Amino acid sequence: KLHIRRLVKNFGDTEVLKALDLDVSDGEFLTLLGPSGSGKTTLLRIIAGFENVTSGEMRIGDTDLRSLTPSERQLGMVFQNYALFPHMTVADNVAYGLNVRKVRGPKRDRRVAEMLEIVGLEHLRDRKPAQLSGGQQQRVALARALAYEPEILLMDEPLGALDRSLRLQMETEIKRVHRQIGTTVIYVTHDQEEALVLSDRVAIMSQGNFAGLDTPMQLFRNPPNSFVAKFFSDSN
Ligand code: ATP
Repeated sequence: KLHIRRLVKNFGDTEVLKALDLDVSDGEFLTLLGPSGSGKTTLLRIIAGFENVTSGEMRIGDTDLRSLTPSERQLGMVFQNYALFPHMTVADNVAYGLNVRKVRGPKRDRRVAEMLEIVGLEHLRDRKPAQLSGGQQQRVALARALAYEPEILLMDEPLGALDRSLRLQMETEIKRVHRQIGTTVIYVTHDQEEALVLSDRVAIMSQGNFAGLDTPMQLFRNPPNSFVAKFFSDSN
């Protein structure tokens, strides 16, 4: 459903994304994995609409994404620096995207309650973000992003700031929410284990290209080239 063809992104003279082709099916969980500087965040920001495309095609169904602003793209986003609104309660943070999209009244309230239940935070609905742990804040961010049922949920290292036990807990949470809601997810991480646990497919990026794009099991068992093989062996 998300269809990308020959996508190129230059920053000045540097070609950061090199004619990428990518199709992501509805409901798929795709993870972008790869060394620092390989272009993962840039690709996510382009899909989100925070960066322009230098050339190439990018569509959801028949809709040309390039002609839409970030908010018109109706994507959910959980970025590490995409903070919660500090002056708003947990419930108001989750309601934010619904308000923007003019979902009001009982319909909105029901949706907020449902999302808070999914991430297990109903009992903290009236707190402010500063009164929550890091993991709880990430859950609110997830609930906020999912509240308006985005076609695609983009996550850039959403668990990067968390300690190991919280990370494992949130991995389970993300997997469960993905199963329950069935949103398409594109996920950026440095963490191989996280990628292998969560993903239907993994794209291994290297210098603006996909060095491998397959199920985690296939990539791990039958690496398509020496870069992918080395990438897995180096980080283990
Ligand atoms: P990391 O894992 O370290 O976050 P990444 O794979 O997400 O890395 P990107 O952040 O997409 O990599 O960066 C890809 C390349 O593009 C890097 O060489 C980076 O220096 C360059 N780059 C990113 N943003 C800009 C920008 N605004 N202007 C110029 N160069 C940029």
